[in-house]
Amino acid sequence: MKDLVQLSSHNSAHAQVAQVQHFAETWSPQQVLTWAFQAFGRDVAISSAFGAEGMVLIDMASRINKDFRLFTVDTEFLFPETYNLMDRIEEKYGITIERVFSALSPEEQQRIHGEALWSRNPDTCCNLRKVEPLRRKLGELSAWITSIRRDQTSVRSGAKRVEWDTKFGLVKVNPIVDWTSKQVWRYIHDHDVPYNALHDQDYPSIGCTHCTRAVRAGEDPRAGRWPGFAKTECGLHIIDPVPAVEQARAASADGGD
Ligand code: SF4
Repeated sequence: MKDLVQLSSHNSAHAQVAQVQHFAETWSPQQVLTWAFQAFGRDVAISSAFGAEGMVLIDMASRINKDFRLFTVDTEFLFPETYNLMDRIEEKYGITIERVFSALSPEEQQRIHGEALWSRNPDTCCNLRKVEPLRRKLGELSAWITSIRRDQTSVRSGAKRVEWDTKFGLVKVNPIVDWTSKQVWRYIHDHDVPYNALHDQDYPSIGCTHCTRAVRAGEDPRAGRWPGFAKTECGLHIIDPVPAVEQARAASADGGD
């Protein structure tokens, strides 16, 4: 493993990504996490909705850095099983989950946008309840750690272990980006990691109660998310194209070609 790269005052975080990205592709998830904790200290946090992949990362992180930061965007529409898992995580790992909420309570959202916005315009609902609070939280950080995997959706297929997040403007770290679902579950069983009880009831991917259903045999694991809509992402991991002029500016600021 290339000696863990420390952020220096001479290089922007953006330039550090370019420096480390190539090497990081050969690192284990634990090495990626170790690098992230060393490079960013308290300015990096794991973001999780406590799916199976997220639980793997939380367990791995706890073995490397007992004092790791973990946050979640609580839409206030989560399953009781998810809230129960959050309690179990705090107890088992001795941490406090940082919870981020929408600026609008569910009641305020209904008053302003009408009833059941998720059934008419899930993109707006996700923006209000997930993307905007996430943007606020990421504004406090230099880097975030996610549990996305390349084979989950087409949007995620090009993700790197370490990359610059053009949408939110910070470093994005994806330690298990090349893992399969089988590897995730092997880790969970081998290390006795807690997981959401709904996974045992045909919910491979779990979001809000209004937009998640169990999948039927043979269906895609994410078929139960936003059923009836073409939507497969809530917008947190969609990469915004970087305008050419901004790319050139960033390259020149970082000394890159
Ligand atoms: S998943 Fe559904 S209920 Fe949750 S924020 Fe998105 S649209 Fe709204």
